[in-house]
Amino acid sequence: MAKREVVECPILSIIPETPRVNTYRLGVGGGAFSFMAGQFLMASIPDFLREDGRPVRRAYSIASSPLDLMEGYLDLTITRVGEGGYFSNRIHESKVDDIVLIEGPYGKAFHLAYPPERFPERYLFVGSGSGIAPLRAMIRTLLKEGCPVPIELFYGYRYVSDCIYEEEIKEWMKKGVSVHLAISGSVSSGQVFSGAYGRVTSILPELIPSYNGQEVFICGPPAMVEQTVRFFQDIPFPEESVHKEQW
Ligand SMILES: Cc1cc2nc3c(=O)[nH]c(=O)nc-3n(C[C@H](O)[C@H](O)[C@H](O)COP(=O)(O)OP(=O)(O)OC[C@H]3O[C@@H](n4cnc5c(N)ncnc54)[C@H](O)[C@@H]3O)c2cc1C
Repeated sequence: MAKREVVECPILSIIPETPRVNTYRLGVGGGAFSFMAGQFLMASIPDFLREDGRPVRRAYSIASSPLDLMEGYLDLTITRVGEGGYFSNRIHESKVDDIVLIEGPYGKAFHLAYPPERFPERYLFVGSGSGIAPLRAMIRTLLKEGCPVPIELFYGYRYVSDCIYEEEIKEWMKKGVSVHLAISGSVSSGQVFSGAYGRVTSILPELIPSYNGQEVFICGPPAMVEQTVRFFQDIPFPEESVHKEQW
């Protein structure tokens, strides 16, 4: 396989999503990088090196649509891990115009083929925390392409303030996407939340009773992904209609 090029990208803007999550919009010149929605890349920062002198590299899902490349950017949505979070803490100290090096794309198993050979009856997306990042790439792609079948998103996070892409999700709803939100933490006084309480996996059984030709994409932490995959296996959904990514 040909070696992938490392592409130097300036940070065009930093979009705060939640107290611990930012989206980094990286400038990518025409044709310098290509990918399919759902894939990830390896990111590094110039002169941010390991003790052995090699770059600190981490995998990040590309959170924007391949169609956004025509406007010269791609997005990475990165949670600040906090104590011990080596790369994520470092990038959260970055400023606009700083350089991020990207290499890829990677991840052939988890991607949206568009247009598909045959449309499913419905696209289902199930995400938790920053696992919504590659799902956003897919949903943006479907909406920009004018997808002719319904799109449904199940998204879980801890507290009301942890909702990533809150404003964009409202725009998706206006465009017809069915959105089901679930929080696993408590609601503070003065906060309004109209979704469900509990883990995102707990709202699936009532809303997805059977297989009717849906195609499902799941992303989140390993325990959530395992539980969600088991839910679809038990219905059962055909294996080839369930796609998963975890970190
Ligand atoms: C395919 C893929 C896609 C991903 N996409 C995203 C994404 O879109 N957004 C996102 O935010 N993340 C994503 N990740 C996760 C990302 O790659 C990093 O793992 C994450 O940002 C943490 O990196 P870090 O360098 O900050 O933390 P690290 O330094 O790697 O540490 C990670 C955690 O391990 C703990 N830790 C580290 N070293 C030790 C040790 N020696 N002993 C015990 N605990 C330790 C740290 O405390 C921390 O909690 C993805 C991962 C994969 C594999």
